[in-house]
Amino acid sequence: MRNKRLIFSALWLFSSLMLAPVWSLASKLDRVEPMFWWAGMNNPELQVMVYGENIAENRVELSYPGVTLRQVVQVANPNYLFLELSVGPQARPGKFDILFKKDGRTQHSYSYELRQRREGSAQRQGFTPADVIYLLMPDRFANGDPGNDDMPGMLEKANRQDLDGRHGGDIKGIANHLDYFVDFGVTTLWINPLLENNMARYSYHGYAMTDFYKVDPRFGTNQDYAELVRQAHGKGLKVIQDVVFNHCGLNHLFVKDPPGTDWVHNFPEYTRSNFRASTMSDPYAARADIERFNHGWFDSNMPDFDQDNLLLRQYLIQHTIFWTEFADLDGIRLDTEPYPTKGMVADWGARMRQEYPNMTLVGEAWLDYEATTAYWQADVRNSGDGFNSGLRSVTDFPLKTAMQNAFKEQDGWTSGTLRLYEVLGKDFLYADPMYNLTFVDNHDLPRYYREIGSELDRFKLGLAFLLTTRGIPMIYYGTELLMDGDEHLGHGHIRHDFPGGWPGDAKNAFTAAGRTADQNEAFDFMRALMRWRKDAKAIHGGRLLHFIPENGVYVYFRQCPSQTVMVLLNNTDAEARVSTARFAEVMAPFSSAKDVVGGTTLSDLRELVVPAKSPLVLELR
Ligand code: CA
Repeated sequence: MRNKRLIFSALWLFSSLMLAPVWSLASKLDRVEPMFWWAGMNNPELQVMVYGENIAENRVELSYPGVTLRQVVQVANPNYLFLELSVGPQARPGKFDILFKKDGRTQHSYSYELRQRREGSAQRQGFTPADVIYLLMPDRFANGDPGNDDMPGMLEKANRQDLDGRHGGDIKGIANHLDYFVDFGVTTLWINPLLENNMARYSYHGYAMTDFYKVDPRFGTNQDYAELVRQAHGKGLKVIQDVVFNHCGLNHLFVKDPPGTDWVHNFPEYTRSNFRASTMSDPYAARADIERFNHGWFDSNMPDFDQDNLLLRQYLIQHTIFWTEFADLDGIRLDTEPYPTKGMVADWGARMRQEYPNMTLVGEAWLDYEATTAYWQADVRNSGDGFNSGLRSVTDFPLKTAMQNAFKEQDGWTSGTLRLYEVLGKDFLYADPMYNLTFVDNHDLPRYYREIGSELDRFKLGLAFLLTTRGIPMIYYGTELLMDGDEHLGHGHIRHDFPGGWPGDAKNAFTAAGRTADQNEAFDFMRALMRWRKDAKAIHGGRLLHFIPENGVYVYFRQCPSQTVMVLLNNTDAEARVSTARFAEVMAPFSSAKDVVGGTTLSDLRELVVPAKSPLVLELR
């Protein structure tokens, strides 16, 4: 102790002589977040978190035209300071020093940069119903750089034999396959979280973040991520970032050295959320249930954030703006939308609309019913409590469940394709059902191919419906390969490596030669529809009109002034001969049609023949 003090004094003397008045650069600040910001944001408010041992002992000064230090907020823990800045419209891009002074002496200096925004940054267009999203898990997609599989300081090492371990996939692996997505007909990538998850186990999935401002080094660098998005944009692909407000990883700084007692919800013993998201919109819900839902932990490794803490709320909101600007995002997917407080979600939605009115935000609203799902979409009608999430898109779990069941059942009063018909019939509940995110499975669900009994004809019916009905379709990676996987055996089983993504893989499914006959049939079928869909205006923005399924055949139309699309889904085990007189209100002006998958032309539309358990997608002429 005494020796330390002596060394300290000696250093102080040395530094004072050599570097006065700034002597302490050797003891640098641990963190300043956001590390930099942008001039010309719509909202001038900027909260800068500063972290370093006893940083609160310092007085903070800065001087820059257009920038005001409105307030320095101290919290219980002296290792934090929160600087409330106002960055006015007259602030130009440039750098200024934030000085931390004690006893009139500058202890630390941080050069803060206000960057120039990209042209059109505020007007960025989000993803729309014209897009097809491809969801991929970066650890499991492709390993473009085996050199980063294990990184110094990262607790978990790669082990490809362990289904729950890290496999080494990374940003470079995604960048290496951009042409695959384009060829397949994908227009948008949704990448499971890329930010640091420095956890000892299960770090691969990305939802236990330990740093909100840093890409996990096993995926690459922040710069690599921005470069990936730039390259994707160059090929016409959009990119959606996956963000998490509800929780962090147990090794996050806010848990290891908490700023105060009101950052993470703590209980005498481990207390899980009740996962009953419907409590958030239930007019009769008990407060105890609501609090348990909102405050309980998502998992023992994922502490629950207290978003009623406005410093934390601002911190979380700002990090999404940071990544939007830095990486040039096209959309954001909010994990577990109902779990952070409603105030947090509404504040975020409003702030994002203020900064990026045309960008698309999608909330993961994992609810079983249409009404409770609709509650989480922006501008919901009759929410009952005035809640408005501000998120234009929501995940459509009710339609997912209908798609899982429809094609393995015979049509009945409420079974088979009647499930689809009845779910869509409740779309009046949604403010904007065309923006519902639709999917047959995802990274948390059994693989679709398994769910429908591993039958290719049912698979085609499901995918044809997904790609032609209303909504923004999302395809989970590997669906095109008929990937199998039972979620009940563990999440690793629904997150297998993409074959060919790793050097030395026995098969390379990125090429037709590396796929089985069935895989090629599935891939080619999807590709034909997805490529056609890119220019199918009736699917992008046309109205949907459907007829009650009859004799096991569900018929619907998508129609805009320049295009009419007719879809027939034969859910029976026999060929269907469908008389079209019943559809005259749409079909009367048309005399021929093109089969958009098969490519043939039909010159007589009075009776349409649909093979057993098959879809038929026609463009009417
Ligand atoms: Ca790697």
